[in-house]
Amino acid sequence: MFLEPHFKGQRSGWIEVICGSMFSGKTEELIRRLKRSKIANQRVEIFKPGIDKRYGEEKVVSHDANYILSTPIDHSSRLLQLSEGVDVVGVDEAQFFDEDLPENCQRLALRGIRVIVAGLDMDFRGLPFGPMPNLLAVAEYITKVHAICPHCGNLATHSYRLVQEEATILLGEKDRYEPRCRTCYHMGNILDLRLRGVEGG
Ligand code: ZN
Repeated sequence: MFLEPHFKGQRSGWIEVICGSMFSGKTEELIRRLKRSKIANQRVEIFKPGIDKRYGEEKVVSHDANYILSTPIDHSSRLLQLSEGVDVVGVDEAQFFDEDLPENCQRLALRGIRVIVAGLDMDFRGLPFGPMPNLLAVAEYITKVHAICPHCGNLATHSYRLVQEEATILLGEKDRYEPRCRTCYHMGNILDLRLRGVEGG
């Protein structure tokens, strides 16, 4: 369980990253931390990429329908303009943001802001997703959360795509994705290649 750090002397900003596969509870954990900040009377703003319109324009919603109001933005530079006088900035679905996100999060932290970023660490191919690897490199605190693999019951780290669609970004829920452990993810990919008559894997 993540506990907020305490500082002696001058208050400093920092970056926290919450990452993992789909259905791993990233957004629940983001919402938990932001709610605790509100209880501590801190000014909180939440942002998400304009691309993610699954649940409505202004909500960050987790899969268990827990939500808080958020502002959709099209570029991470907007974070700098919209965070005047804010103590805590939350960013959800960070993998969909531009490559300037790590730099802009660092600028916020230098202003003394606590920045909490949640996002998918890997895409459906198992490759680092968008700005996430660079964000992980510059963050003070990293929390990797896990789903449960429905095939074997082990911890799931990968997002397995259930439909044949090659685009990296394909928004979807349990109709399109399934969390899987490394082994079941790999076995699924081999099976898919065989079904499609492609050798290898
Ligand atoms: Zn498994």
